[in-house]
Amino acid sequence: MEIADCLKETPPYLFAEIDKRKAELAAQGVDVISLGIGDPDIPTPEHIVDAMAEAIRKPSNHQYPDYAGSPAYRKAAATYMKNRFGVDVDPDTEVLGLIGSKEGIAHTHTAFVNPGDYVLAPAIGYPVYSGGAKLQNGLVYYMHMGEDNAWLADFASTPDDIADAAKIMFIGYPNNPTSAIANDEYFDEAIAFCKEHDLLLVHDNAYCDVCFDDYRAPSILERPGAKDVCLEFFSLSKPYNMTGWRIAFCCGNAQAVDALGTVKNNLDSGQFTAIQDAAIVALTGPQDCLDDMRAIYTRRRDAMIDALHAIGIDCEPPKATIYIWAKVPDGYTSAEFAEKLLTQAHVIVTPGSSYGPDGEGYIRISLTTPDDRLMEAVRRIKETM
Ligand SMILES: *Cc1c(COP(=O)(O)O)cnc(C)c1O
Repeated sequence: MEIADCLKETPPYLFAEIDKRKAELAAQGVDVISLGIGDPDIPTPEHIVDAMAEAIRKPSNHQYPDYAGSPAYRKAAATYMKNRFGVDVDPDTEVLGLIGSKEGIAHTHTAFVNPGDYVLAPAIGYPVYSGGAKLQNGLVYYMHMGEDNAWLADFASTPDDIADAAKIMFIGYPNNPTSAIANDEYFDEAIAFCKEHDLLLVHDNAYCDVCFDDYRAPSILERPGAKDVCLEFFSLSKPYNMTGWRIAFCCGNAQAVDALGTVKNNLDSGQFTAIQDAAIVALTGPQDCLDDMRAIYTRRRDAMIDALHAIGIDCEPPKATIYIWAKVPDGYTSAEFAEKLLTQAHVIVTPGSSYGPDGEGYIRISLTTPDDRLMEAVRRIKETM
């Protein structure tokens, strides 16, 4: 047998490789602390679990789900968009239920990319933006991201011929892995650029509710004309500690929602309706669990930033997300420094270079580890340095 060419060029998913290394060390009896993947350690709030316990007993939930998400789930998503951002979306034509936003983002490539088409992806970003394009035999143009442009992907310098040949542009703020946030002006320029070049603008808003201090992230759909070109992805994974549940939605441009829906109804049969029922409670029920979550990450963020500064590592306290993006000390590449921390401190962090060509020189530290383990990791890093 012979696997597809596109797969031969696709490396294994980043965190699958890191999990393997962790398992090897654990098998040797080494106590490894992972500050690698962003996967909340806090349990899903009880009122959401209770809703699931009830929903799982409903026989009607035991049959195939609605392909596009149940009408009630799509309505809850629309209600959330209205309450949280003041944005109106039609639950029937502008909202689509997803089996996690990773799934939806990956399949957006299937809906829009022909072999040889370009996708514009940030030069530091969530791996699925570029990985999904490659699996579709598409080409990736990496938009520069760096400290010099406040980590805002520089779409404006894309050569015209590539911008015109491209199908999708991906951005996401608050950003994984840099924790950068975007302002309205950046969103407006991105919308104008995508209109000019006839691109679908995908905004990945997985962290809009994981914000600290007084910051609350916007939806790109608040901006004028956004719906003409934008599809925005929201996930229950990070705000409600529901990564294992696999539930998300996207909303925005009706043509894009319809195209992605057609891909999906040919490939999957939707998420378990009981999970959608629980997600309705998450999106439209009491939101104090978000304050609890923010308080925990704020505490961890501050402790980690203090500790990193104490050992001379350059980094800024993020306004959002569950990550600290830190400069590696002089004399190391990202991968070398991550490897040093793994072998000497038994702490996993992710090298910035694994998020794309501009990530070299940085590491990403995830805050999704209980406080005592996080502080133990800091102690070990200190000892190593
Ligand atoms: C975690 C994450 C997602 C994926 O979320 P799921 O809904 O769990 O698939 C998407 N985008 C970014 C940037 C993320 O960090």
